[in-house]
Amino acid sequence: MTTFLGTPTFHPGTGNIRGAERFPEAARKSLTDTQLRANLGRATSTIRNKRTAAIAEVDDWEELRRAGSALKADVMARLPDLLMQFEENVVARGGTVHWARDSAEANRIITDLVRSTGSDEVVKVKSMATQETGLDEHLEESGIAAIETDLAELIVQLAGDTPSHILVPAIHRNRAEIREIFLESMPGIDADISDDPRALTMAARAYLRRKFLSARVAISGANFGVAETGTLAVVESEGNGRMCLTLPDTLITLMGIEKLVPTFTDLEVFMQLLPRSSTAERMNPYTSMWTGVHPGDGPQNFHVVLLDNGRTNVLADEVGRSALHCIRCSACLNVCPVYERAGGHAYGSVYPGPIGAILSPQLTGTTGHDDPNASLPFASTLCGACFDACPVRIDIPGILVHLRAKQIDSERHGLRGGQDLAMKAAGWVMESERRFAAAETASKVGRVLGGRKGRIISLPYPGSAWTSSRDFPSPPKETFRKWWERTHGGER
Ligand code: SF4
Repeated sequence: MTTFLGTPTFHPGTGNIRGAERFPEAARKSLTDTQLRANLGRATSTIRNKRTAAIAEVDDWEELRRAGSALKADVMARLPDLLMQFEENVVARGGTVHWARDSAEANRIITDLVRSTGSDEVVKVKSMATQETGLDEHLEESGIAAIETDLAELIVQLAGDTPSHILVPAIHRNRAEIREIFLESMPGIDADISDDPRALTMAARAYLRRKFLSARVAISGANFGVAETGTLAVVESEGNGRMCLTLPDTLITLMGIEKLVPTFTDLEVFMQLLPRSSTAERMNPYTSMWTGVHPGDGPQNFHVVLLDNGRTNVLADEVGRSALHCIRCSACLNVCPVYERAGGHAYGSVYPGPIGAILSPQLTGTTGHDDPNASLPFASTLCGACFDACPVRIDIPGILVHLRAKQIDSERHGLRGGQDLAMKAAGWVMESERRFAAAETASKVGRVLGGRKGRIISLPYPGSAWTSSRDFPSPPKETFRKWWERTHGGER
């Protein structure tokens, strides 16, 4: 039997992928937090330097990047077929597949599955997909406690905070803050604990051990799903994932539909690209793969929930769809000058930084100028560092420009906007030598506005569109023409 999936209708993604305020306002607030900026600057520069060294060790790094990019492009080109193949293979090996159109549907399916086990507590492997759907909050509302077992994720959970980095969700916290969080919220902790990282880790380990041994249900995300075998893979650094994936009776995995690879062999490319790009390690400390259920070994009930949540919308855009190639390594965050200063919370979505700036607006669609996600493609200097760092060669700057153009076009409803008019006026001035010379002379007025600091911080409309977020340098004392006349004697 063949299944025709048809032309996708627009079904916006929902959940924790849209913030409450636009990026400029949110970033302005976080920029005043000097502790946050210090924590972020230290952490990102350390990861960045380690990653550069790890990549320099691999002679064929560029070929690996190209291989990863080609594999992902192939997956996007035949995603419906690969998804059907994946489902067949999971079912053939004793698993159950569920399909979720959006966050609400995914949360409902998973909550019902947990309830059917009679359990009111689950252990969780760190998962961006479950953060995206807001699963923990949904489970809590349903009377089910979800315990995050990744150390950084646990810190964020105990603090009642939200993650600010894909890989290091608590990157905005230092160890003194973590000690305070543990003392306040971790049951059974020694009141005299120091802020030594080892002491804090051991406290978390003791707390989590008790949870691993009592939990009957685990929930995970997936880094990859293999279509030809129905295998799922999770890579992590602490071993907590392996405990969750093997000890409980029931395992529920939430996976975005874009996480597929066609064959088992394809994993070898990503298993080289991911660890060096994310944690700067040569290979991943813990890689767990599981295929269906096996009597007497590991979870005896296995469910996988395939999540769309706007991904079909992204796939429909030929330029923007390569955002779905992302393997969530976070390398683009660590090299981004905007992320390093503004921090992850300013992006509103669980996907911060350059990848978030292109993924979140595409997942949700945007509703107009005031939509927080409409501002994200503009949260970049377009310096290109993210493209250079991306292990699967996602052209993030290109997609940013594409999304900016789409956003501007959608806002002006066929009418010319202020920017068009400004460009037309500039063109008219530059067409004539006389007009250009007059404009240069007139620009001297700007020196008065710039004052002694030489920076204009406020201009009337339409210049206010620029000065609301950046200063404008004062015009120089001497125009280029005057300088040329002075130094070259009017020579042409
Ligand atoms: S966009 Fe590229 S660099 Fe950024 S998280 Fe995804 S795979 Fe990593």
